[in-house]
Amino acid sequence: MEMKRRDFIQTAAAGTAAFALAGATFVPKGASAATAKPALLGGPKVRTEPFPSWPMIEENDEKAWMEVLRERGWCRTQGERGAQFEKAYAEMMGAKECIATANGTSALFCSLNGLGVGPGDEVIVPPYTFVATINVVLLQHALPIFVDSDRETSQIDAKKIEEKITENTRCIIPVHLGGNVADMDAVLTIAAKHNIPVIEDACQAHLAEWKGKKVGTMGKTGCFSFQVTKNLSGGEGGAILSDDSDLMDRCYAFHTNGRARRQGSYHFTYGQQGSNLRMTEFQSTLLVQQMTRLEAQTKTRTENANYLTQQLNEIPGIRVAKMYDGCTRNAYHLFMFRYDPERFAGLPRNKFMKALSEEGIPCSGGYSPLNKEPFLENTFKTRGYQRIYSAEQLKKWAGENECPENDKLCEEAVWFFQSMFLTGRTDMDQIAEAIRKIQANAADLAKA
Ligand SMILES: *Cc1c(COP(=O)(O)O)cnc(C)c1O
Repeated sequence: MEMKRRDFIQTAAAGTAAFALAGATFVPKGASAATAKPALLGGPKVRTEPFPSWPMIEENDEKAWMEVLRERGWCRTQGERGAQFEKAYAEMMGAKECIATANGTSALFCSLNGLGVGPGDEVIVPPYTFVATINVVLLQHALPIFVDSDRETSQIDAKKIEEKITENTRCIIPVHLGGNVADMDAVLTIAAKHNIPVIEDACQAHLAEWKGKKVGTMGKTGCFSFQVTKNLSGGEGGAILSDDSDLMDRCYAFHTNGRARRQGSYHFTYGQQGSNLRMTEFQSTLLVQQMTRLEAQTKTRTENANYLTQQLNEIPGIRVAKMYDGCTRNAYHLFMFRYDPERFAGLPRNKFMKALSEEGIPCSGGYSPLNKEPFLENTFKTRGYQRIYSAEQLKKWAGENECPENDKLCEEAVWFFQSMFLTGRTDMDQIAEAIRKIQANAADLAKA
């Protein structure tokens, strides 16, 4: 599960403890934070209720799911639900076409295949993303070229893309991390200047917008994930958006063993090589139902996140991730901020996170630097890579593979998860309250 992969610190909202403390838990705003003992040192928790659980299930989900179950048309080759989902998702996003896929990783994988990115090619990627963004590049035997992060926004630093472009660059994959939006004006300008296609990794950014346009509709393709932790969830699932019909023909064929898009399923002719990366009818029907809530949920998340941002901006040592001017909507898959221990009596980040989760506020320290993962160099030692790339090329890669800003970001970051933003301001007040309480008691926590 995604949350586990990111080492999500879960709140121990054990029923009994919560009841026992229920009367003594409310810590009012302001001065009292200084006097309340941190939960980590045995004091009362700021929050004892768990945050909303995710994914959400309502009656329409159950009904739709049971229909597919009883009809027995479980595979998309047997039903209409895959096509229905694709139509609805393309419409919601403002794209011409959509292909439903097994997951977000395969949406990216199909896109790279459709664009013909392969051995010997270089693909520009951020180091601050989920590993799938990089894995799809390696699956094509191409080289991931990392561009440093902008610590202020936690996005790829688009100003640094151009210096990484070579004659082998065949694709740029900006990621809209956490539902925040990468600097698309800068990315698209550089891409157009060098005639390099862009694949938007919008796996965390359903309904986010750049200058009023939905993310995932500005690149050659836009890729989405509906994995269970994402803001729109079908357990697993993914989608490719594009306005380029020929490219989508190739992506579609690749996702269903090379069979062409407009032929029925019961033929055994193949136009190209491919895999099987289809979405099931269960996922498609569930997503159509979950989509009816997405706009309202996104609105709630944004309102709450904006309110929390105001509160946290007043706390020294907490720097909420900024948005570029062009970001007209942040989808807040993650609420990201940077933590400065110097303003917390030297309390290290790990201990800050532990104290916060003890107060009833779950959080994560986020990603570690992907460009430094040992599995990359191990992949380059495989026979395939050794045949494709000269020792000199790989040495050059290693020599230039530095992202110092991202290294710092990975040490400073703290994340809250999207489902914490689905209720109301009281929850936001408690988050801010818990941080103020930790700050007021930071010296004691640092000693403990
Ligand atoms: C979740 C995610 C993916 C992969 O999606 P899956 O559906 O898990 O395969 C790719 N990129 C980013 C940024 C993601 O968050």
